[in-house]
Amino acid sequence: MNAPGALTELIAALRCLPGVGPRSAQRMAYHLLQHDRGGAARLARALDVALGRLTHCTRCNNFSETELCARCASPQRDVGQLCIVETPADLNRVEQTHLYHGLYYCLMGRVAPLQGVGPKELQFDKLIARACDGQVREVILATNFTNEGETTAHFLAERLRARGLVVSRIARGLPVGGELEHADTGTIAQAFQARQPVV
Ligand code: ZN
Repeated sequence: MNAPGALTELIAALRCLPGVGPRSAQRMAYHLLQHDRGGAARLARALDVALGRLTHCTRCNNFSETELCARCASPQRDVGQLCIVETPADLNRVEQTHLYHGLYYCLMGRVAPLQGVGPKELQFDKLIARACDGQVREVILATNFTNEGETTAHFLAERLRARGLVVSRIARGLPVGGELEHADTGTIAQAFQARQPVV
């Protein structure tokens, strides 16, 4: 017997989540309906509210419930530094260091030519206009050290430097607690290239 329409639709809808194939979508749907109807209702409400309320901050492009997010509106932040990250999750990781007090710009993606994502799709023009507000002294590129993240950083560095901005890239190297013996050659090579004087 065929599954009822509502169930089929729920399973199909769950497949929009990254990494969720038909089998896990089915498992999630059965779990929600059979074992966690309260959780399912909460999820449905949260999604509805988030879709209705969240927009992108006009300054940093991160998700926000207001036109200007709390971080961008804060007088505590250094408006002279602008850190560029790929995702809101990356932004949160940098914030957790408590070392950076400047502002951010969240690309919400990375240059990925094979998936048809280029400077136009990522709205590089918007970012460059943001960086050229006359207050930014330094742009810090904190995109990932993947091929796509490096390509993105390369593209951005070129364009931002052409506008006379000071551009820096976060350093690569060994992780904290990392041992040379267990690190890959590429990481060790990069740690050597990014070495700094001991003070
Ligand atoms: Zn913002």
